[in-house]
Order: sequence, then C-alpha cells, then structure tokens
Amino acid sequence: EEEVIGFARLPEQVHRRAVKKGFEFCLMVVGESGLGKSTLLDTLFLTDMYKDRDMLAVQERLSKTVDIDVKQLDMTERGVKLRLSIIDTPGFGDPVNGETCWKPIIDYVDEQFGQYFRAESGLNRKHIQDTRVHCCLYFISPYGHGLKQMDVDMMKRLHNKVNIIPLIAKSDILTPKELKRLKANVLQEIAQHNIQIYQFPNFDSDDEDEFSDDEEELRAAIPFAVVGSNSIVEAGGKTIRSRTYPWGIVEVDNPNHCDFLKLKKTISTHMQDLKDVTADTLYENYRAEHLKNDDN
Ligand code: GDP
Ligand code: MG
Repeated sequence: EEEVIGFARLPEQVHRRAVKKGFEFCLMVVGESGLGKSTLLDTLFLTDMYKDRDMLAVQERLSKTVDIDVKQLDMTERGVKLRLSIIDTPGFGDPVNGETCWKPIIDYVDEQFGQYFRAESGLNRKHIQDTRVHCCLYFISPYGHGLKQMDVDMMKRLHNKVNIIPLIAKSDILTPKELKRLKANVLQEIAQHNIQIYQFPNFDSDDEDEFSDDEEELRAAIPFAVVGSNSIVEAGGKTIRSRTYPWGIVEVDNPNHCDFLKLKKTISTHMQDLKDVTADTLYENYRAEHLKNDDN
C-alpha cells in the first residue's frame, strides 16, 4: 500500500513518540485561482486510493465571498495514528478587478493560533488539538516571469505565520529552459523582497553546515516544479498519474518530468521540523504579540 506520509522515514525517536501520542499535521495551499491547487491536493492525498479512508469534510464559512475548505483525513501508518488536515483556499487574486482577498486566509491562520492560545491558557491543557497551519504550499504562476506584486504582498503577510514552501504550478507547460529561468527569477525575487521561506534545518552532524546529499538535492529544487493530475493510467502493471498531451505524457511521479516526488519527500521527512518551527518560532511570535497587546 502506498504511504501518504511516509512514516517509515520519520526518525526513530519521533516515530516512537508519534505512536504514543498520535500526530496532527495541517497543510494549506495558497495561490492565484486556477493554478491547480485543488488538483495537487488530490494528487498528493485524496486520490481514489484513499476513498475507503475516514474522511470528514468541514466547511468553514469565513466570509460571504470566500470559503476555506478543510478536510480531515484520519489514517494509520506504521502504527501511527495520523490526522491530516488539508486546507484548500480559494484563489485570492481576482483577475478581473485586480483585488486580492487575502483576509480570509490570514484570518484562518490567526484563528488557529488564537484557538491554541486559548486552549493553552485554559484548564485542560493535556490534549490540545493542534490545528495550527504547519506548512503552506504557495503556488506561483508558470505564465509569468516571476512573482507578481500580489504574490509578494501575500507571502509577506504569511511568512511570519507559516512555513512557506514555494511551488511552480503547472510546470508541464514550461520547457526545461523556461522552468530553470523562472525558478532562478523567483528565488532572486524572494531574496530581494526579504521573504522568509521554509529553511531546511541543519542536521546534527560533524560538519554542521553540511547537508546530506539527499537534503541538498531537495533544497536545490526549490521552488518545486509540480504537475497535478487525477487521471491514472495503467501501464505494465503499474499505475501512473499523468497528464496526456498530443506530444506525449507527463508523469507526475517521474522525477525527470517534475519535482512532485521531491515535494512529497520534503514534506514527509520534515514534518516534525515544520511542526517544531510552527510551535517554537511562529506561534511564539504570535503569543508574544498577543500578550503585548493585552497589556495595553
Ligand atoms: P485551483 O483554482 O488552484 O484550485 O486550480 P484547480 O485545481 O481547480 O485547476 C484548474 C485547472 O487547471 C483544471 O482544469 C485542472 O485540470 C488544470 N490543472 C491542474 N493542475 C494542472 C497541471 O499541473 N498542469 C496543467 N497543465 N493543468 C493543470
Ligand atoms: Mg481550488
């Protein structure tokens, strides 16, 4: 059976703790409309393979025009009870009037901090449900030359609150050369605008600044070029997720075609770190701000 999360990859210590306590993880997607956010979530987690799994759709109506869709996926992998919350957001950029509806998305993230804060200050602090957003996949258009102004604005609103992993959406429409240029532009603009994206931790090793080759390969591929698809073809006894074109087939799981597997591996091998950064840095920022404001 294919693993959704890949708990086989969690470090032993983390795994043992997770077996006991269970593991909650919340993943959000953000980006312009039509970039394939919902499709990629399906590709990552919600394909037919999981139709038997326990899934609970929670609709949160946060404003008149914008709905945030939260799905909870409960599963057991390698003895670990995992609750995965998948937060799909509507495109925040309206191409017609140029307005950006960032507020419901930011409100959602803040509200999860708020809930955690209230639970923490309450009497029963033993089993606080952790709905804080641990990771935000940020979709960048493949049609432009880099970040748009609204991407810069949105990422800056988000980066003190969530771990951002930037993605190049629908990368199948780009040639390798175009993709390379777009990735370089995006990285350069992220640096230029001082946008903080998720940084891989330096693993304890003799040489602390060195990443393992595996890690380095993942890190070098950011922003990950992704392709989403829900059409599954059978070929030679294997199931392949792909997009079919007159000139050929783009395979989602083929590392030569896109970075989908690298994205998946990054999430599964950094889950605990993404949670730690959320709890120790991002939430602490929120908490400090909140307490300061209460004093006034
Ligand atoms: P969202 O608005 O960001 O959630 O985008 P959707 O997931 O609804 O996808 C919008 C359209 O783009 C649909 O017609 C999808 O079939 C198509 N699409 C999704 N992912 C990809 C992709 O990776 N490549 C291409 N070429 N099209 C895609
Ligand atoms: Mg969508």
